[in-house]
Amino acid sequence: MMLIGQSTCKCNKCHSTFGATWEIESSNTTDHDHGMGEETEYLCTLETTCPECGAEISASMTVCEYPVGCLVPISHINVTPGTAQVSIPRVDFFDL
Ligand SMILES: [Zn+2]
Repeated sequence: MMLIGQSTCKCNKCHSTFGATWEIESSNTTDHDHGMGEETEYLCTLETTCPECGAEISASMTVCEYPVGCLVPISHINVTPGTAQVSIPRVDFFDL
């Protein structure tokens, strides 16, 4: 189970900052033959609207869990160019 914290968005239009929530769209698990077990990739998306000026902001990122329970540091977030800056969120894994 994975929990993604909020990202801070900074609107490029009006420069206000606000929090936005990520959603997990899909996950894909690969079992490596000679590695450390399973690797899971999560496709995550963020859709929000600037509370100040109403600009639409969307972003996506891939979060990789490998080995199980460990986060591979997120290096890049894809944001629709020119709309906002989106910070890298905190990600936690926990057992059910
Ligand atoms: Zn704005």
